[in-house]
Amino acid sequence: MKEMKVFILLVLFLLIFSCKNNDFTIDATPSTKDSVWHTFKIKNENIRVLETNNQYFLAEDIVLSKDQFNYLSYFNAEVKPKSLVTSDFIKLWPSGKIYYTFGSNVSNTLKAEINSAMSWLSSNTPLSFALKGSSNSNYVTFEASNVNQSPVGMIGGMQVIQLTSNASASTAIHEILHSFGISHEMGRNDRDNFVTINTSNIYADKMHNFNKVGVLSSIDVGLFDARSIMMYPAFTTNGTFAKDINQPIIIPNNSNVVIAPSYYPTATDLLGINMLYGNEKPYLDYNVTYNRIYDDWQSGSYDIEAVYTFSLYADNNKTIPYVKPYPVPVLIEYYWEVIVNRVEDLPRVQKQSFIIPAGKNSFTVYGKDNVDRQFGEIYNMEKLEYRPIYPSTHYR
Ligand SMILES: [Zn+2]
Repeated sequence: MKEMKVFILLVLFLLIFSCKNNDFTIDATPSTKDSVWHTFKIKNENIRVLETNNQYFLAEDIVLSKDQFNYLSYFNAEVKPKSLVTSDFIKLWPSGKIYYTFGSNVSNTLKAEINSAMSWLSSNTPLSFALKGSSNSNYVTFEASNVNQSPVGMIGGMQVIQLTSNASASTAIHEILHSFGISHEMGRNDRDNFVTINTSNIYADKMHNFNKVGVLSSIDVGLFDARSIMMYPAFTTNGTFAKDINQPIIIPNNSNVVIAPSYYPTATDLLGINMLYGNEKPYLDYNVTYNRIYDDWQSGSYDIEAVYTFSLYADNNKTIPYVKPYPVPVLIEYYWEVIVNRVEDLPRVQKQSFIIPAGKNSFTVYGKDNVDRQFGEIYNMEKLEYRPIYPSTHYR
């Protein structure tokens, strides 16, 4: 079913070219002589944690609480000690709301970038922010620092997001998303299918940045996204990561793929955020119209134009449009079965995510493709289904 392919390529094209230039930077881990490496073997993956200055780093910019470190120890222990683990590895913020305050060293310039970051997230996601009041015991303090760094998830009590004085709104969003519990894209379970970590060009003391943290708790949402705001760039400029900055630290398995984080969260980033913090339970409806223009009647090859419209409804009868003040990402699975020359092929499954814009309940995609048929080939589409994965009343 080649019609699928063009649809997917088109959406990827839209995603890739709607992104602004990235200015996300990777900062150096504070280095001291007292650094200790801890390696935890979890589901056959080595998770490296750097202990330095009494802090635990799961990645360059992700600092773990003592509880989270204990959680890894517990996970890893041959004999499980009792009462070591008090919580899940990642805790979410109730109602997706972070209470925050600014440290006294935060300049007005940096404050403006942080406010811009929070404003973007408030209007494009279910996440929200409010200045800390006296009754808010769990909150974030933004501090100016020489590194960009955040805890992962809600730690409990006060937690600090550190940002450099010249950090952009994009970097602030990246660090804030860590505090909401979101990890790096290159830490996904399935990342090896899409990229190769160029370990020979990476300093050994930076390898924790390529921890496959997906094994800890998170599920891989949607497709791997080399343009995720949570992705590290293929090339680094400051020389703390790469032995040779002219060589990449991450290589795409498909040479057409560009590995560079986007300035703002992408469709798949929004999907991840909404799966963690949205409470969407709408019904997905779709409508597809095909227009076939035959170019070879003998073989049955044709050009095809397709218009796909996906709509969300609040009710099962699909009469009440489901509209949100923020964009609602959709993840669907195409499932189709074909019989080629009377032989049943394996069922095919492909996932795709796209965004229903804020204030709207539907999204239309135009696709075009050429379908080549061999002369005499008998090709029957037995079944074609669009299965919503998110949002879905069947999800959760
Ligand atoms: Zn990060």
